[in-house]
Amino acid sequence: MTRTLEADPVAPLGAALSEAAEVVRRGGLVAFPTETVYGLGANALSPEAVRAIFEAKGRPAANPIIVHIADRSDVARLTSRWPGVAERIARAFWPGPVTLVAPRSGQVPDVVTAGGETVALRMPAHPVAAALIQAAGVPIAAPSANRSARISPTTAAHVLSQLAGRIDLVLDGGACAAGIESTVIDTTTDPPTILRPGPVSAEELWNEAGVRSVAGSAAPGRPHRSPGAMARHYAPSARTIVTEASEACVYDEAAKGRPVAWLRFAREAEPKPGVLQLTMPDDANAYAAVLYARLHQAEAAGVEVIVISQPPSGSHWTAVLDRLSRASRA
Ligand code: AMP
Ligand code: MG
Repeated sequence: MTRTLEADPVAPLGAALSEAAEVVRRGGLVAFPTETVYGLGANALSPEAVRAIFEAKGRPAANPIIVHIADRSDVARLTSRWPGVAERIARAFWPGPVTLVAPRSGQVPDVVTAGGETVALRMPAHPVAAALIQAAGVPIAAPSANRSARISPTTAAHVLSQLAGRIDLVLDGGACAAGIESTVIDTTTDPPTILRPGPVSAEELWNEAGVRSVAGSAAPGRPHRSPGAMARHYAPSARTIVTEASEACVYDEAAKGRPVAWLRFAREAEPKPGVLQLTMPDDANAYAAVLYARLHQAEAAGVEVIVISQPPSGSHWTAVLDRLSRASRA
């Protein structure tokens, strides 16, 4: 049985929080809201607890998990070296939607890092996430709270749709603000490498932390999202098509008698009756905030095809375009 408890996102301390912290301390699994997506948390210092995350998600063992902390002093016990560049980024963006990869300490279990020599750390800004980590008194390992390779959850209902019965507790703190997963930065390379684009862009790293970065995947020999296995990391179960010619594509699929959802911009032509029409914001951050919710909605409606109007190029769309390309890869 998975229980759901409401956690007030403004003043999260209370019975729900203490109960969730207790579940974490005794090795259980708690889904909780962050400013990016909902995480599926367990005591990061307990290999058994972290193994339960892999089991509940059906996650491949080669995929390492981000460790969430509530206090900067935790960095010292979890890393063996903290590069200057990591410190600069942390000062500018923590607490926030940025994950920093650094050499790990002996306190981090192998299962967390997928056997690798680095650990990924984040200090989330969401008051419920911060309060939970603090109350648990241990760092919390947490990937997104979805079944492996499915759409990440941005509400408690999304979590339950995939993980009900597989985890102990969901803390319901409402919808996530950013709506896509954190920016992941490997600080062991020079310059640092953006392993996963996210809410904080390369441009902001430069403007706000004075850090120049490059885009790329993890160095060979290190645990990373192996391109073959993880390409469809954010995929809906319906066939998903991202195209400039979305209107024609929608008519085409509908003409073949297939149930279709269309994620369209307001400026585009009205779709045919019978098409599930979901209007997307023109602003990149606002688009990211609702993207997964719209994909969940299309999936729940049981459509066979999801057609997504191609968003503009331009650097602030980088993270959205990354998620769309993963969602639509065959
Ligand atoms: P998620 O499962 O959605 O929370 O995504 C976690 C992602 O964080 C993984 O797919 C990796 O890209 C990244 N990650 C976590 N730990 C590490 C690490 N030690 N080294 C490199 N990347 C990591
Ligand atoms: Mg994930």
